[in-house]
Amino acid sequence: MGDGDFGRVFPNAGPVRRNCEHWGRFGSYAPRSRATVVAVMTSIANIVILTGAGISAESGIATFRGPGGLWEGHRVEDVCTPEALAADPALVHRFYDLRRAALSKVSPNAAHEALARLDREWPGALLIVTQNVDDLHERAGASRLLHMHGALKQALCAVCGERFEWYDALPPGTPCPACAAPALRPDIVFFGEIPYQMERIEAALAEADLFVSIGTSGAVYPAAGFVRMASAYGAETLELNLDRSDGSGWFDESRLGPAGQLVPQWVEQMLSRRPAR
Ligand code: NAD
Ligand code: ZN
Repeated sequence: MGDGDFGRVFPNAGPVRRNCEHWGRFGSYAPRSRATVVAVMTSIANIVILTGAGISAESGIATFRGPGGLWEGHRVEDVCTPEALAADPALVHRFYDLRRAALSKVSPNAAHEALARLDREWPGALLIVTQNVDDLHERAGASRLLHMHGALKQALCAVCGERFEWYDALPPGTPCPACAAPALRPDIVFFGEIPYQMERIEAALAEADLFVSIGTSGAVYPAAGFVRMASAYGAETLELNLDRSDGSGWFDESRLGPAGQLVPQWVEQMLSRRPAR
């Protein structure tokens, strides 16, 4: 998909941008404020939800660009690139060891719980695509879930490509249980690496009636481009974020506030309008 597909700019306020045929899917539509656009849809079946670090912030996990633009005190380039892993594997492995160990001290919050409820109760297709490497979605009970940037509790063999569940420290040189190469690394998608399951994500976006982005800055690609892809395929788009993000202008509607409040409210709204099975 070239840039031309994304060439239209949909400011985050003002009149609708869709053709009549599309709006016909949602019953009678008269122009109304964007604040109510997503709320009035009654025929949504397929939902894709993208989550980012902001959904885990209220659980006590730092977002990517905290104070000073650092991630847990480190420059992103020092802990989140293949070059950093090659230059200082001890530092990079230790960084993710600490993040993995810290998971035992945090719990899912109301936003994770609400998405898990939606996953259980939504009768249509649903996919939660998380950029997060924590395990809070699955601990809340979500199962229609995909970790596009990897997971702290997994190790990846750089030689044979096998993945393993991993709960403890992972020192550089740890042998792979499958091929014995001393090449296990944290299963984290670094900058410059291709996120996981992109084909599955694009297929879900192509079928989506609604795309919802929660707690993500819209600065990390390709995830930041999903809103435009979903729009181009004909989905409605909703952002739930603490403050305006880099991508806010691309959404039909943005609701600003903490995920712990906004997500349960939105889930309640969706389930009260759910389509019949
Ligand atoms: P980001 O840190 O770049 O942006 C976080 C966004 O969340 C910001 O727009 C911020 O305004 C918003 N936010 C902060 N607190 C919020 C709250 N309580 N409710 C709602 N929104 C809130 O995160 P990103 O866009 O996900 O990109 C960061 C990258 O870093 C991702 O690729 C991710 O893999 C990685 N990361 C993951 C974790 C995690 O697993 N929990 C934590 C930090 C970084
Ligand atoms: Zn191996």
